[in-house]
Formats: sequence, C-alpha cells, structure tokens
Amino acid sequence: MNEVMLQLEHVDTFYGPIQVLHDINLEVRRGEIVCLLGANAAGKTTTMKTIFGLVRPRRGRIIFDGQRIDNRPASDIVRLGLALVPEARRIFPRMTVLENLQMGAYTRTNKAEIEQDLDHVCQIFPRIKERLKQIAGTLSGGEQQMLAMARALMSRPRMMCMDEPSMGLSPLLVETVFETIVRIRSEGVTIFLVEQNASMALSLADRGYVLQTGKIVLSDTAANLLENDLVRQAYLGGS
Ligand code: ATP
Repeated sequence: MNEVMLQLEHVDTFYGPIQVLHDINLEVRRGEIVCLLGANAAGKTTTMKTIFGLVRPRRGRIIFDGQRIDNRPASDIVRLGLALVPEARRIFPRMTVLENLQMGAYTRTNKAEIEQDLDHVCQIFPRIKERLKQIAGTLSGGEQQMLAMARALMSRPRMMCMDEPSMGLSPLLVETVFETIVRIRSEGVTIFLVEQNASMALSLADRGYVLQTGKIVLSDTAANLLENDLVRQAYLGGS
C-alpha cells in the first residue's frame, strides 16, 4: 500500500470563539487523487487554510511526508513539497503571467531548474505560454485558473491541494481543468481536491470525504460515493 503523504488527525479549527472544523481525520496517500466534498460553508476552505498554516488548528496534528506541519509557516510547507492552488484563483492581478509563475518558484534558488519548469508548465498550459507578458488580472476566468495551477507547479510540489478549481467555469473549461489535474497526477504529483462539483470530482478521484458543517460524515472510494444515497441526494442533484 502507498505511504501516507498528508494526514490530519483530530483537527479542530476555530475563528475566534466559533468552531468551524470538528475532529477532522483524513489522509491522502502517495499518488492518489482524494477529494473533499461539501456544501457552501461546510468548512472546505478552512480545511485548506488549516493545512497551510493560514489558520492554526486549536487541537490535532497535521503531518506531511512524515513531518508535523501544523506549527510551521506556509513558506516552510511549500519548501517541503506541498503547494496550494487557492480558492477563486488568487493570482497576483497586477503582475504579468510570467511574474506570477516566477513567484510560484520563490522558495527555490536553482535558476536552471526553474527555467526547465517554466518550459514544462508552458507545455502543460499552452494558453499560458501565449500570454506570458499579459497582465494576469486581464486573463479570462479559465486562464486565471490555469495560471493558478501553473504557478503552484512552479514550486515543483510532490503534492498539490486545490480549492474548488472548477468554480465559476463553463462546463467545457471545467473538463479541461479536470483533465489537467489527471495529467499532473500522472506526472507523480499527489492531489487533494476540494470541490462542490461532486460528480466531476468523484469521476477522477480515487477516494473522497464528505464534510458537513465542519465534520467528516462519510469517507469511501469515489466509486462507492457515487452510488451512496446521501451523496446522490445532497451533492449529485438526487439523480
Ligand atoms: P464555500 O464552498 O462557500 O467556499 P467552504 O466549505 O469553503 O464554503 P469555509 O469558507 O471554510 O466554507 O467557511 C466555513 C465557515 O466558517 C462559514 O460559516 C464561514 O462563515 C466561517 N468563516 C470562514 N472564514 C471566517 C473568518 N475569517 N472569520 C469568521 N468566520 C469565518
């Protein structure tokens, strides 16, 4: 069995006095695509923020590749090989596409390797390659999502966490984004995906967790979740 890359153990997260995550336990194994499904306000983004140290858990442990990361700054976590594609594709809107990509490599020093990776992400995202000099804020929504993914790849991660990459995109673009996720996984990057688009996420994931008001209520293989009554009713339009 593949080794565990990311593990959350008994994680509780609060905003001030309000508890948003309750005893979260989950794991992602090397080479997997694992999705975290949940409705609006379930706590999906908070889970991502907690993993990256943007909010500190009040209880529990987060372990990445054998090391505790729940007390480390985000820059250390990126250095360890974990990258975040944030919600709503938070690119740097005033910088060019190329500058955004260079920012993605800010934890690295080997210029030759950074150049290599720039070529590589341009290969994966040809639309981005055509627009390296364009101001990133003027890209279309789909292009910005590609840029957010490309920028995360520039840290040469072993694992990527993606917060709702399909949000606000047309069905065709959603498909392109999801095809790209499968390609990234095939190049050896483990993927943890937070999604409201349950049918798409489960169609490419190996396993999934369901988050409801801050608690994991279900975890299973993606195939079983697609057949599960709760998932079908709550997240797949009852079909
Ligand atoms: P969505 O799909 O709508 O983005 P989500 O599952 O990602 O939702 P979160 O953004 O994690 O949900 O929010 C979970 C809960 O925590 C919500 O009730 C939200 O109002 C609350 N929350 C989020 N950020 C803060 C904050 N900075 N301060 C106080 N409460 C917050």
